[in-house]
Amino acid sequence: GHKATYQELDASKLTYTFTKSPQKVPAAGVISFENSSICTDHMLTATWSQKNGWATPELKPYGPFSIMPTASVLHYATECFEGLKAYRGYDGKLRLFRPDCNAQRLLMSSVRISLPSFPPGEVEKLISAFMAVDGPKWLPRERPGSFIYLRPTLIGTQSQLGVQAPAEAMMFIIASYMAEMDSPPGGMKLHTSPADMVRAWAGGFGYAKVGANYGPSLLATSEARARGFGQILWLYGEQGFCTEAGASNFFVVWKNKETGRTELVTAPLGDKIILDGVTRRSVLQLVRERCADEVEVVERQYTIDEVIEAHEEGRIVESFASGTAYFVCPISLIHHRGKDVAIPMGKKNDGGELTTKVKTWLKDIMYGREDHPWAVVV
Ligand code: PMP
Repeated sequence: GHKATYQELDASKLTYTFTKSPQKVPAAGVISFENSSICTDHMLTATWSQKNGWATPELKPYGPFSIMPTASVLHYATECFEGLKAYRGYDGKLRLFRPDCNAQRLLMSSVRISLPSFPPGEVEKLISAFMAVDGPKWLPRERPGSFIYLRPTLIGTQSQLGVQAPAEAMMFIIASYMAEMDSPPGGMKLHTSPADMVRAWAGGFGYAKVGANYGPSLLATSEARARGFGQILWLYGEQGFCTEAGASNFFVVWKNKETGRTELVTAPLGDKIILDGVTRRSVLQLVRERCADEVEVVERQYTIDEVIEAHEEGRIVESFASGTAYFVCPISLIHHRGKDVAIPMGKKNDGGELTTKVKTWLKDIMYGREDHPWAVVV
């Protein structure tokens, strides 16, 4: 009969080739977010072909790999990626934060751009196996409260210029060193997106973490940075719905116009325009669980005009952006077509009350001060 040769991705087969030239771990505090290009000693790769499925995953020295100039990813943006961090806890343990969510999201993104599927649990195991090797050295025990950034990636490698789903692909996982990064002092300033630019649209792929979402957003970001703003607040549609802030989800805390109740408002996932951020999810769940009496969580479409109106009526309480890289970042100002919306930044000018609470809750989980199922010990 028919003999299936297709192999599933299998983390238990992982092979190990250790580096012969281990790198030096940078001193604490010398690497800034902007120039953090130092990767750890190793990387993890797994190749895939339509015919044979997933080859044995390999842990090997970090370094360049070669693909043909005709590789699918270089022409048709068949690329998707993830971002998560490994944390050195105050109890000395290494942890990942909700890696199952990242593995699931990688699968969702991969399928959206015709890259292969895989059992997400295997990717989670590979991330963990990788961190078991590089984590102990690159997150020294004597630096509790530090982290490194992990970047699982999938690319279409088939060398064929025909516009078609790649029959060959590669997954790789690298870890980039970053010094502890705090939000810009005094909070982040946002500039709304230019009237003639849109990050994502209904029927598009804004909900997937594909490289094609990011390159085209850099132009607006560079222009905003040159004018002193940190990120773009991406608006959508004629009405100017608030969606995301740079590569972060965006939140406003305001008093409801009718009821006066305090609400934590953020864009919904239903229209598939924004990324389902792991931090966003976690923030919403924690606020629902821990302070539902004080704050109501509202996931709905809301416009920049509503934000401006709330500002003019003195109803804005605070605002923040959330994401793995920038964590929970207080927003101090939003500039929209000649108008400045100044946002309260709390007594110490380092973020509002809810922003600060949410940061503390999440950090306590990530660094093992609170025992929580979201934090997975490596
Ligand atoms: N939106 C976009 C567009 C992003 O790239 C990211 C970063 N992954 C986020 C939001 C935040 O997602 P997460 O909390 O999972 O990092």
